[in-house]
Amino acid sequence: MESMITSRKVVIIGAGAVGSSFAYALAQRGIADEIALTDINREYAEGQVLDLAHGLPFYPNVQIKVGTAQDYADASVIVITAGAKQAPGESRLDLLQKNAAMIEGVMDEITAQKSRAVIVIATNPVDVLTYAAIRHSGWPKARIIGSGTVLDSARFHYLLSKHCDVDVSNVHGYILGEHGDSEFPAWSMTHVGGIPIDDYCPQCATCDDWMLDREEIARQVRESAYHIINYKGATYYAIGMALVRITAAILQDQNSVLTVSTLLQGEYGLQDVCLSVPVLLGKDGIKRVIEAKLRAEEQSLLEKSADTLKRSLAELAL
Ligand code: NAD
Repeated sequence: MESMITSRKVVIIGAGAVGSSFAYALAQRGIADEIALTDINREYAEGQVLDLAHGLPFYPNVQIKVGTAQDYADASVIVITAGAKQAPGESRLDLLQKNAAMIEGVMDEITAQKSRAVIVIATNPVDVLTYAAIRHSGWPKARIIGSGTVLDSARFHYLLSKHCDVDVSNVHGYILGEHGDSEFPAWSMTHVGGIPIDDYCPQCATCDDWMLDREEIARQVRESAYHIINYKGATYYAIGMALVRITAAILQDQNSVLTVSTLLQGEYGLQDVCLSVPVLLGKDGIKRVIEAKLRAEEQSLLEKSADTLKRSLAELAL
């Protein structure tokens, strides 16, 4: 497939909380010319588009409309946020199967339009659905990515910056693995002001026991979504902004290093599983996976995360 950034058109499938928050943030960023929002519930999409479009006098120039399948043909980025919610009495596996069938159906529609867009999947479970989309469609793996742990890494930056009392733009680090319970921070890749965290800590007096506090930060990152869902039912603003970050990397061919979910085929010693590791992201999707030299305990956590995901794939018989 050839590169196709000939338009700055973004299609968003799913006009719910995540899709509309993303559309709102993307419109304000001014990096897209056209945003097409689609939903199985067309009236809902109509309502969201009108609400967003009424803000156009306050945005950079962008067209916002309700999309149809034809919009896939010339889109540069298609972001899938559509998702069924767990119905009463429905098992996790039923929900998984329902969302996998939905993703496969959506991929068929996108393929039928001969789209050459980069597909970004945010619907959960994001790693399993990214795998399902790649396997079902036969598309090059570079062009189908999951939002992965881009959001979790942002949560990590936020918590670390609060903990160390340092500007969030001066802390750096990545959450690797599943977007879910088996994810973990790669401490070997974590820096404050360019200094490896292990060297920075002894000169910082903000905590008593850094090793204990590390565990606490990792736990808080993992449990963030549960807390927010308990408080207000869903998370959508920060994922909306994370999706803007991913979309910008593609639309502007930024070669950004981001932890999106990607199909591993030997990298980090892992085969045939989608999970998050740092990759270079640009106009054609993933340019390459960046292989960091992880510590033995981090490599073991990555392998455990891959095993967890493989069990879900096996349940789904993917
Ligand atoms: P929501 O219920 O508010 O919106 C989902 C929308 O999808 C609804 O408007 C629904 O009508 C639509 N939809 C369902 N099936 C569809 C189909 N086949 N085609 C088109 N539209 C369809 O849910 P939400 O809060 O926006 O969450 C959406 C998804 O995003 C969920 O799977 C959620 O778990 C996930 N999520 C992911 C992250 C992340 O970091 N990856 C973060 C937050 C939420």
